[in-house]
Amino acid sequence: MTEFKRIGVLTSGGDAPGMNAAVRAVTRSALLCGVEVMGIYGGYQGLMDDDMKLFRSKDVAGIISHGGTILYSARAAEFKTEEGMQKAIAVCKKNRIDGIIAIGGDGTFRGATDLSVRGIPTVGIPGTIDNDISSTDYTIGFDTAANTIIELIDKIRDTCESHARCDVVEVMGRNEGDLAIQSGLATGAIAVAVGEIPFDEEAAINRIRVAREHGKRNFIVVVAEGKKGYAEGFTKRIEEQTGVESRFTRLGHVQRGGSPTLRDRVTASLMGQYAVDKLFEGKSDIVICERKREIVAMNIGFALSVDKLFKGKLTDEEKAKISKADFEKMEAICAERRAKKMQLYNTARITCV
Ligand code: ATP
Repeated sequence: MTEFKRIGVLTSGGDAPGMNAAVRAVTRSALLCGVEVMGIYGGYQGLMDDDMKLFRSKDVAGIISHGGTILYSARAAEFKTEEGMQKAIAVCKKNRIDGIIAIGGDGTFRGATDLSVRGIPTVGIPGTIDNDISSTDYTIGFDTAANTIIELIDKIRDTCESHARCDVVEVMGRNEGDLAIQSGLATGAIAVAVGEIPFDEEAAINRIRVAREHGKRNFIVVVAEGKKGYAEGFTKRIEEQTGVESRFTRLGHVQRGGSPTLRDRVTASLMGQYAVDKLFEGKSDIVICERKREIVAMNIGFALSVDKLFKGKLTDEEKAKISKADFEKMEAICAERRAKKMQLYNTARITCV
């Protein structure tokens, strides 16, 4: 058991509903162990700038239901430099911070590794609406964003039905189509197009044409932002080739806000408490993941390699440095993730008409 007297907590990268629940859980779990908590504002930028406040339990009261992040977030390019890193270490020493919990995405975890190897044990928690961190089945914020999307699409569908229209809705998710696939499935979209799965446009247009002939009046098509620049052109082609009046809607940043759902509040709380437990056990340079509904810890280097492998970005040189046993574990995680995604995608396609 490593002795901790004061830890810091920060949120970094894009914000996500549920981050506050994680901050609350981290703060209260640490305070219960007699460890002080410094709330660091504006991610790694705030760490370098010494922008922080000692949190008491009441500082995190009432935030579990709030979207966004009370600690604010920022992207801090300087933190990636040795100079920025040394600034951050000096601020930690000055404020007697002897461990950090960093909530964010893969960039945040790279920063966590850099701090850990320089003597500030750091633990990452995955917070992003995109669910695009391959080492974990779930990232905090996904469920809230997905529920926002389905609420909005349900409304769009009402008006599509009235006017016998098609609406092509572009949703967030960066390069991963999870938000599009699951919201498309849950709203009965006639087609879902994502960047990582080949999309049969002709078949989709044909489905719309045949369904219209059978009397269907509302058509929802969900396109992931990862299918860059595709949605608007596709909208025009649907109208031209089917005669169904078609509109394009980009939902935008409304998807990032709002009160977190039960799933996000609970998962964020579990991950926050687990992160503190692991840090106090002496673990560092790890990210908290959900695997098969269990909360587990994974080495950040391993987790980032899983992510690169899944996204086809792992170079031969990087692969050569990974042991055979680890590589097999990584491949198994990627295979499970791919299978789950395909199952959801296929169900969306099979059940849409
Ligand atoms: P999101 O998934 O929402 O984009 P993220 O954590 O991946 O979240 P980034 O902007 O990539 O978002 O990273 C957040 C911050 O982490 C950066 O602004 C920077 O301060 C730090 N960071 C990113 N990459 C590195 C790196 N290679 N080394 C050290 N710190 C990094």
